[in-house]
Amino acid sequence: MGNYTLTMIKPTGVKNLNTGEVIKMITKDGGFRIVGMKMLKMRNDQAKAFYGIHSDKPFYDELVNFMSSGPIVAIALEKENAVEAFRNFIGATNPTQAAEGTIRNKFGVSLQENCVHGSDSDENAQREIEFFFSSSELFDTDGNLFEL
Ligand code: UDP
Ligand code: MG
Repeated sequence: MGNYTLTMIKPTGVKNLNTGEVIKMITKDGGFRIVGMKMLKMRNDQAKAFYGIHSDKPFYDELVNFMSSGPIVAIALEKENAVEAFRNFIGATNPTQAAEGTIRNKFGVSLQENCVHGSDSDENAQREIEFFFSSSELFDTDGNLFEL
């Protein structure tokens, strides 16, 4: 198991001014360490590429439109067993089914607008971190640059 995962605070999370609280929960409550972070707005084609694994799903087009509708905050995180630990931490995909006190439970407004993304495998975590970050934008515990 790997020690890295990728999250995004989705456009509604940013718009609703939850960025600070979400980052606080992730770092202080969850014990995840930020190794890279940036705010950006994805173009439609970038969101399409990011969610390419879902291109056959009925929700794909709407999801792509939503994710490119406003700025997001992309964050690369480090923790032991990061992918599974982070998915447990944020709660189920549907905020109505996310455990009490999780980020998706607290800040999710719908199945689509569920506040945050979390990678689903080590392989996808690496792909997703490389999607947003170059090697000069990722930092180890000593603040030194590193490559995944
Ligand atoms: N999503 C949606 N409708 C669905 C399932 C998912 O709009 O029926 C959105 C939702 O924002 C979710 C994203 O698509 O976070 C990716 O779906 P996935 O099944 O990978 O869920 P996740 O890994 O984010 O929990
Ligand atoms: Mg997923």
